[in-house]
Amino acid sequence: MDLGIKGKRALVCASSKGLGLGCAEALAAAGVDLVMNARGSEALEAAAQAIRDAHGVEVVTVAADITTEAGRAAVLEKAQGVDILVTNAGGPPPGMWHDWDREDFIKALDANMLTPIALIKALVPGMMERGWGRVVNITSQSVKAPIPTLGLSNAARTGLTGYVAGTSRQVASRGVNINNLLPGIHATDRAEALDGPVAKREGITLEEARARRSATIPAGRYGTREEFGAACAFLCSVHAGFIVGQNILLDGGGTNATI
Ligand code: NAP
Repeated sequence: MDLGIKGKRALVCASSKGLGLGCAEALAAAGVDLVMNARGSEALEAAAQAIRDAHGVEVVTVAADITTEAGRAAVLEKAQGVDILVTNAGGPPPGMWHDWDREDFIKALDANMLTPIALIKALVPGMMERGWGRVVNITSQSVKAPIPTLGLSNAARTGLTGYVAGTSRQVASRGVNINNLLPGIHATDRAEALDGPVAKREGITLEEARARRSATIPAGRYGTREEFGAACAFLCSVHAGFIVGQNILLDGGGTNATI
């Protein structure tokens, strides 16, 4: 399918690895020029070069922490006028409900709620002026069904979801569509960071922890960054203009809900 976005420009945050990288690759495959971001420059430069080589699109890189004001300013300097924004950042650490104090919540809110909102506020006005734009926020399955050990994530991402629900309906008539993609477990470094402590706690190998988790998913496996990226690229396509403020689960059926 021709996604109809060849020649457009996208900012994909936190995209040197994992789900963000999957989104960057799929957009590049559709002919979209990119601004890519991550904190570490080595993996970022390697990913950017691989995308240039594979797809012949322009890729600008900005090594910066997207959750800080200075990092966002550096990224936004290179991303002015983008047509597509994919927000993403690392997820908060797991723990128990009584583990976290105010500072932990502020950090999680900054990363997974206030950063995407700041980026939306900075870039959506230009999209509205030009009459076309797409925003995809990478959130989590935890928005639909809480993951008890990820209380910080549950809280911060649900806050973003509420903001997007209203905002997406305020900008849709100007050709700007904002939606959220909700990953269930995907085979990335983040999954390893979540499975590692489980393996340690249960006294099993990482492979065994993965197999146990896979057995709880109707699809019987973890998702891939390529599948995730393809869904993101579709939401950024010309065909997705009637999809507004939705929360789309990519979880292999893991969330046991009828709708
Ligand atoms: P990942 O494989 O660990 O990749 C994270 C990427 O984001 C890396 O490129 C990393 O590069 C970059 N990054 C992290 N923090 C950043 C920051 N502050 N500023 C800029 N770049 C940053 O993680 P993932 O699996 O793709 O997960 C992406 C998001 O989806 C996370 O919020 C995660 O919690 C959420 N999620 C993932 C899953 C899953 O199963 N994978 C499920 C539900 C939700 P640097 O480290 O160099 O910055």
